[in-house]
Amino acid sequence: MQEKGNISIHTENIFPVIKKFLYSDNEIFLRELVSNAVDATQKLKRLASLGQYAGEVGDTTIEISFDEAAKTITISDKGIGMTAEEVKKYINQIAFSGATEFMEKFKEAKDANEIIGRFGLGFYSAFMVADKVEIQTLSYQDGAQAANWVCDGSTSYEITDGEKTSRGTDVILYINKESEEFLNKAKLEEILNKYCRFLPVAIKFGTKTKSEEDGQDEEGKPKYKSIEVDNIINNTNPAWTKSPAELKDEDYLNFYRELYPFSEEPLFWIHLNVDYPFNLTGILYFPKVKNDFDLQRNKIKLFSRQVFITDEVKDIVPEFLMLLHGVIDSPDIPLNVSRSFLQADSNVKRISNYITKKVADKLSELFKTDRKGFEGKWKDIGLFVKYGIVSEDKFAEKAGDFVLVQNVDKEFYTLKEYAEKVKDLQKDKNDQVIYLYANDAAKQDSFISGAKSKGYDVLLFDSPIDGHFVSYLEQKTENTQLKRVDSDVLDKLIQKDDVTELVLSEEESTTVKSLFEKAIKKDNMQVEVAALNAEEMPVTVTMDEFMRRMKDMAQNGGGMGFYGNLPDNYKVSVNGNHPLIKRILSAADDEEKENLAKQAFDLALLSNGLLVGSELTNFVKRSVSLID
Ligand code: ADP
Repeated sequence: MQEKGNISIHTENIFPVIKKFLYSDNEIFLRELVSNAVDATQKLKRLASLGQYAGEVGDTTIEISFDEAAKTITISDKGIGMTAEEVKKYINQIAFSGATEFMEKFKEAKDANEIIGRFGLGFYSAFMVADKVEIQTLSYQDGAQAANWVCDGSTSYEITDGEKTSRGTDVILYINKESEEFLNKAKLEEILNKYCRFLPVAIKFGTKTKSEEDGQDEEGKPKYKSIEVDNIINNTNPAWTKSPAELKDEDYLNFYRELYPFSEEPLFWIHLNVDYPFNLTGILYFPKVKNDFDLQRNKIKLFSRQVFITDEVKDIVPEFLMLLHGVIDSPDIPLNVSRSFLQADSNVKRISNYITKKVADKLSELFKTDRKGFEGKWKDIGLFVKYGIVSEDKFAEKAGDFVLVQNVDKEFYTLKEYAEKVKDLQKDKNDQVIYLYANDAAKQDSFISGAKSKGYDVLLFDSPIDGHFVSYLEQKTENTQLKRVDSDVLDKLIQKDDVTELVLSEEESTTVKSLFEKAIKKDNMQVEVAALNAEEMPVTVTMDEFMRRMKDMAQNGGGMGFYGNLPDNYKVSVNGNHPLIKRILSAADDEEKENLAKQAFDLALLSNGLLVGSELTNFVKRSVSLID
């Protein structure tokens, strides 16, 4: 038999288009051809298991080889093969909805994946890298005649009887000039490792060598020595394809190491396994989170029936889950569509919700079954949970039960427990419960110890996400405000009914105020004389909670432009009831008064970490002379 004909495309020749347009992504030809080989093999196995193939299935290893001298890459499978009729049907009539549509649409397509998937060009992606493609195939059917198909990248093909004597298909690519980089062991290994590492049929990769002695066969074609094959390159049965009951912790850890060699061990993992209303399997790992969020992203790999698709899962998993590692495998995610389409896809939405729910359930289970262990991991999990809470309402609903807050004494509380703990003592005269927090326990130590001496509790919010988390808590917790412990003097942070009287007269108070203003000489420091407990510090420097949040917001790029240049405004609270103030008033001369005021003020700056540079030097000198 010999037949020549035209591939049924009714408009122009699309091959130059495929070649040119898809150039940047051209490595996926290998994924497409190996996937076809896998499909053909699995079809054969299915037929055999259904009793529709009586022959020996035998070894089904797919062999991939290349020949540098002949400039060929060959993909050989022992699958169902094709008869000449089938080649005509499946290969010649390109299975896309219409070449006209293709020619119109390819202009807007963003990448090769999109075109190949949308228009069913899988096999034809071979022409991205090859001038000529040859298929030698023998169908599994009884008494089938082998067939050879050759196409040189134009729309004409030639089909002849073939010589293949063993079941299956060899696809031979004659690599074009621009694609010779693929005739390289390391390059091919890299591509195979990326796309084919977990394919369900064993794959061998090797170098086909053309030996001098072997010469040519009767038709003058070069005869090859047997393939020199390296080891099987793929794990055909990766952990996520197994049932959770089959797997031990060590198996999950081993799989993690396989995915991310040299990485620190994950904290725990979630095995995803659902087949209705969509099909999804996978394993998601919780890594030890570093503070550098971005480095940790794009670690989830997306597969479709064990074929690697991408590690850009941005539109499939919610933003905060991007910090997780692992794999998701779903044939129900439309892989070859534009991003906007993906976001609107109902399956994708359901998958995203499902994953969110699973993650929340796992955390909840960990919390309930092993609270101590959960607390121990909080440093890593906390960042993630808070990120999830502020960014994803669905997650926040569930996470309310297990999100923890930690105080400066390193004790953990759930939100409910904490509300209970502080509800009486930290309630102010307006029935608002005030949560006090520090973001730097060392720097804010004097404020913390002041608060503690009153029996108040101080939370520690020291991670980058905590700014957002504080706002969230305030919104979600009724009659509750959060104030940083150094944002005012204690009596004003939590205002109670019993007012402390000021022992100074009005006149003395005015004198003290101007005395301090003169000693401080700073525009951004507003002095006030306050009636505080005599045991409190004589002078306290604070920055208003609201002002500070505005500044933080501006710094983080949020907020409105005009907050960008906010000066650091501080309040200097002089404790009119402190004995030192009386002493200052009764000092011998103006110089001594000013020196004492300066000293008291500097001490306040010092306990805030605000005393630096020449002011610190002057303070030290003044202190020395005071001791003298
Ligand atoms: P798709 O794989 O999406 O159907 P392709 O263009 O890659 O599109 O392949 C078209 C058809 O050609 C396949 O559906 C299959 O029937 C047939 N085919 C391709 N490669 C092989 C192979 N190695 N063995 C048997 N049949 C194949």
